[in-house]
Amino acid sequence: MRSVSKYFDGGDTVANYKLDLEVEDGEFLVFLGPSGCGKTTALRMIAGLETPSDGEIYFDDDRVDGKQPADRNVAMVFQNYALYPHMTVRENIEYPLKIQGIPPEERDERVAETAELLHIEEQLGSDPAEISGGQRQRTSLARAIIRKPSVFLLDEPLSNLDAKLRLEMRSELKRLQSELDITTVYVTHNQEEAMSMGDRIAVMNQGTIRQVADPEELYRRPQTTWVADFIGSPPMNLFEGIQADGTVDLAGENELPTKTPTASETVSVGVRPEDMSVDSDSPETDWAIRGTVETVEPLGEYVLVNVDVDGKFVNVKVPTTDVEPEQQVSLTFEPEDAYLYDGDGELVA
Ligand code: ATP
Repeated sequence: MRSVSKYFDGGDTVANYKLDLEVEDGEFLVFLGPSGCGKTTALRMIAGLETPSDGEIYFDDDRVDGKQPADRNVAMVFQNYALYPHMTVRENIEYPLKIQGIPPEERDERVAETAELLHIEEQLGSDPAEISGGQRQRTSLARAIIRKPSVFLLDEPLSNLDAKLRLEMRSELKRLQSELDITTVYVTHNQEEAMSMGDRIAVMNQGTIRQVADPEELYRRPQTTWVADFIGSPPMNLFEGIQADGTVDLAGENELPTKTPTASETVSVGVRPEDMSVDSDSPETDWAIRGTVETVEPLGEYVLVNVDVDGKFVNVKVPTTDVEPEQQVSLTFEPEDAYLYDGDGELVA
């Protein structure tokens, strides 16, 4: 995508603004972002279901943004995958090949091959109403990939499934995609889904791409405070302050160490909840952030402590803790675990 924009309502609604993105051959690329940020519109432009207001879209060297969906060799699977109810699973899967005029013997072969890949051989003779939700979703995936599309587009395909099935289908989809080595663009607002499946994730907000990175880098090096505040559950804690000589003065008595000085005066210091410690005693460091414990939630895998620091809530994830609500506590962290953002919210160090 080269500088692709999409406007609706005579320009009043900016669904996408200057998207620049290159998806590699065989890559699993995820569009991740909050509701209304423009993920679906971006996907529909790749599919050919929307025309860009501006910019260019290429498949390899072939410019496709003026082409009909049928001329792009893409397959798209939606959240509300509609199977033809009066056709069997076999007929549903076979349908795209029939349309293409492929002879019956080859159709049979490809249906068998695709059904095996998706583990629905046993269901081929059933009607869609007679099979489970997961099997229906597998059928719609089979119908999409049987044409051997050059690009596979998926828009929240798992959101209608229950939690257990969603997890199962997540790893199946990932397996399928890497077995077929098919270039895939996947839309979701679910971070876990994005992180577990994506080779790279394009994080979107208000029609623009904020960062494109692999899951590890996105978590470890969010380039802006917006991304830092979006990725992670709970997300990164951000402390605003005035930076001078290697320390950041927060309002009140709190002073934080930072790694690198910057020219900018107002900065934000970011620390992941799991990189913070919470103590009822005075810490051994010569600095700490003071606050009052609001809640302590034992979540099994870890304990989530929520601390009120001058009216702002800070999340801390610890393996165990003896702190209790309403207690005065000290929060500390290793300076190398902190991120420094400038006054514009851009990562400095
Ligand atoms: P969600 O996760 O809720 O599906 P999204 O990130 O996929 O959201 P889009 O559906 O791409 O977002 O919508 C982006 C913006 O464009 C929204 O403000 C939406 O209202 C607007 N929009 C999308 N399609 C149209 C349309 N056909 N006409 C007018 N506005 C539209």
